[in-house]
Amino acid sequence: MADHPLSDHEPRSGSSLWDEVRAWLEENWDPDLSVDEWWRTVAKAGWTAPHFAVDQGGRGLPRRSPTTVRAAFAATGALHPPAGLGLLMAAPTILSHGTPDQIARLVPPILEGQVAWCQLFSEPGAGSDLAGLTTRAERDGERWVITGQKVWSSQALESDYGMLLARTDLSVPKHAGISWFAFPLDQPGVTIRPLREMTGDAVFNEVFLDGAVCSHADLVGGEGNGWAVTQTTLHFERTGIGAGGAHAGFPAPGPKGGMLGRGAGDAALDEVPGRNLALSVDDVLELVRSSSRRQDPLIRQKVARLVAYAETGQWNALRGKAEAARGGGQSVANIGKLAQTRIMKLAADIAVDILGADAMLSTPDGSQGGRFTHAFVFAPASSIYGGTDEIQRNVVAERSLGLPREVRADRDAPFGEVLRRTTGGGPRDA
Ligand SMILES: Cc1cc2nc3c(=O)[nH]c(=O)nc-3n(C[C@H](O)[C@H](O)[C@H](O)COP(=O)(O)OP(=O)(O)OC[C@H]3O[C@@H](n4cnc5c(N)ncnc54)[C@H](O)[C@@H]3O)c2cc1C
Repeated sequence: MADHPLSDHEPRSGSSLWDEVRAWLEENWDPDLSVDEWWRTVAKAGWTAPHFAVDQGGRGLPRRSPTTVRAAFAATGALHPPAGLGLLMAAPTILSHGTPDQIARLVPPILEGQVAWCQLFSEPGAGSDLAGLTTRAERDGERWVITGQKVWSSQALESDYGMLLARTDLSVPKHAGISWFAFPLDQPGVTIRPLREMTGDAVFNEVFLDGAVCSHADLVGGEGNGWAVTQTTLHFERTGIGAGGAHAGFPAPGPKGGMLGRGAGDAALDEVPGRNLALSVDDVLELVRSSSRRQDPLIRQKVARLVAYAETGQWNALRGKAEAARGGGQSVANIGKLAQTRIMKLAADIAVDILGADAMLSTPDGSQGGRFTHAFVFAPASSIYGGTDEIQRNVVAERSLGLPREVRADRDAPFGEVLRRTTGGGPRDA
C-alpha cells in the first residue's frame, strides 16, 4: 500500500521549524527537571502555543505549527507541552475578548500548564439550544453570585477553572442576556459529580452551582456579550476538533492532573501511544499495513475512503484559513467538524474490523492496550460534542447554502417571558 498522501502536507523532518525545535530540545530537554519546571521552560520559549502572537506567549507561527512542534518533541522523547481545554479554547477566547488585565492573569498559567480548564456550557435543558440556558448570575457589588446546573462537563473534576456561561439579564432576548465567566471551581458553592460513559471512563461530570461566586474582574468580553464570546470558544473547539486534536487531553495540566510534581523524564515515558480517544489516520494505516488483511478489497475500499476524507478535510481547513483571512468562512469550521466525525468513526471501524475477535476488549489488557477498541466505543460521541451533526448541518445549510432559517419563536422575546411560557428550540450557535 502506498504511503498516505497526507504526509506531504506535514512539515516534518527537514523543515526549518522541525530543525529549530529539535535544536532547541537538544539544548534544553532535561528529563531530570520536574514537569512543572519543564513546562515553564517550554512556555517561556513559546513552544506551548507557537501559533499565538509573540506578545501573547507564542512565536507567531502558522495555525498548524503545533503539530510539527509536538511531533519534534515526540521524536526527541521529550515531554510534550501541556494540552487540555484551557489551551484549546479558554486561552484563545480570553486573548480575543479579554482585557489586558485578564490576559495577563489568566493566559500565562495555561501556557505553563499550571491550571486546567473545563467548559461549563451545557445544561440539562440547554444543549443544542445553548442560548436557552437558565443558570443565573446575579450582581452583588464587585462579584456575581451563581446558581444553576451544568452537565456533560468534561474533565471538571480535574479542573481549576470553568468557562462558565450564565444568564445575567432576564429582561432581554435570550442571546443578549448571557455572560462568559472565568469561573474558579474550588469553592464551597460548587459540587462536581462524575458521570460514567459507555467507554467505562468518567470524563463527564454534573456541576451544581449553589450560591457560588465569581469576581466581576473575571467576566470576560463584557456583561451581556457572552453569546459573541461563546461563538469564539465554539469556533476554537470546532477548529480544534476539525484538526483532530480537541479531546486528546494528554499531558494533563494543573495540580489535579497529578503531573506537575513528577519527573519530566518519567512522565515522557507515559506518552507512548496511549488510550487516546481519537485515532490518527496514520495509526490506522500502520495497523492495516501490518495486518494479513491488507490486500482484502473491502478493507482497501474503506482505507481509500478514509484517506479521501482526511485529504479533503485538509483542503477544507486550508479553505477555512483562506476565507478567514478574507473575513468570512465561519461555516467551514462546521464542515471541518463534520468531516472529523466521519474520520473518527471510519478510522475506528477499520481498526476494529482488522483486529476481529482481538477487538473484544477495550481495557488496557486488550489487544494493543485496548486503544483501538476504546476509540471505537468513544467514536459515536464525536457526533454530539461541540454541537451535534444535525446542528452543524443546520448551520451549513443556513449560512453557506442560504436555505431558510429555522423558525425560532422565542428569539426576540425577553427571556424572562420565555421562561414563563414553554421554551421553544433553536440551534447551539444560532
Ligand atoms: C464526549 C462529549 C463531551 C462533551 N463535553 C462537554 C463539555 O465539556 N462542556 C459542555 O458544556 N458540554 C459538553 N458536551 C455536551 C454537548 O455539547 C451536548 O451534548 C450537545 O451540544 C447536544 O446537546 P444535548 O445533549 O442537550 O442534546 P439535545 O440538544 O437535546 O439534542 C438531542 C437531539 O436532537 C437534535 N436536535 C436538537 N435541536 C435540533 C435542531 N434545531 N435541528 C435538528 N436537530 C436538532 C440533536 O442533533 C440531537 O440528535 C459533551 C458531549 C459529549 C458527547
